[in-house]
Amino acid sequence: MAESHPPTRPRIPGSGLAKGLAVTLRTMTKKSVTAQYPDAQPDLPPRTRGVIGLFEENCTVCMLCARECPDWCIYIDSHKETVPAATPGGRERSRNVLDRFAIDFSLCMYCGICIEVCPFDALFWSPEFEYAETDIRELTHERDKLREWMWTVPAPPALDPGAEEPKELATARKTADKLAAQQAPPVTEPHADEQARAAEQPTRPQGDSKQQTDQPKPGQEGSE
Ligand code: SF4
Ligand code: SF4
Repeated sequence: MAESHPPTRPRIPGSGLAKGLAVTLRTMTKKSVTAQYPDAQPDLPPRTRGVIGLFEENCTVCMLCARECPDWCIYIDSHKETVPAATPGGRERSRNVLDRFAIDFSLCMYCGICIEVCPFDALFWSPEFEYAETDIRELTHERDKLREWMWTVPAPPALDPGAEEPKELATARKTADKLAAQQAPPVTEPHADEQARAAEQPTRPQGDSKQQTDQPKPGQEGSE
């Protein structure tokens, strides 16, 4: 059976042009939202994923970030160093020393897995994004450059007023209080002799001194 099509309306000549002009006129009267970058810098939210900063002091070279990176674009080299025993008779310790930490941003897909898995808070997002290069090799940022990005990492947002104090801050505050208490001068107790003398002196009620001066002295009684 042949399909029945709805009857087509006859087209008015020039209606397409009129529609197009109507769209143009509507758009012309609206406020433009185009940002004039780079003359006007974009107002980016603080959690923007621009580039990754490395806080080297926190890195223990555990290699977790490099292992979890889906693009394998984190390169870490390290060597072991022996630390002598802190106390006589103690054991020597060995620790990892970072030789190289680099991220290839031409491969990175900005997933943030490395930052999430780092157990020592050594990696952070920075909203900086102006690091385009004409040579792709320049997009491999070595540890010094990654360290510089740390200065552009925004401060964390303020805690909720009712939130529990962070563990690190509570520990630091307790340590500072303890140190201050140790350094404070000792409170001097009055000497035992002074205490005994003070106990022997009769205590006079306040305002009694005036009463006593008003009383006649011995020998003055009945002289008037
Ligand atoms: S953001 Fe993702 S892809 Fe980029 S370095 Fe980190 S884990 Fe790798
Ligand atoms: S996961 Fe963190 S601590 Fe471990 S190597 Fe990576 S940056 Fe360093």
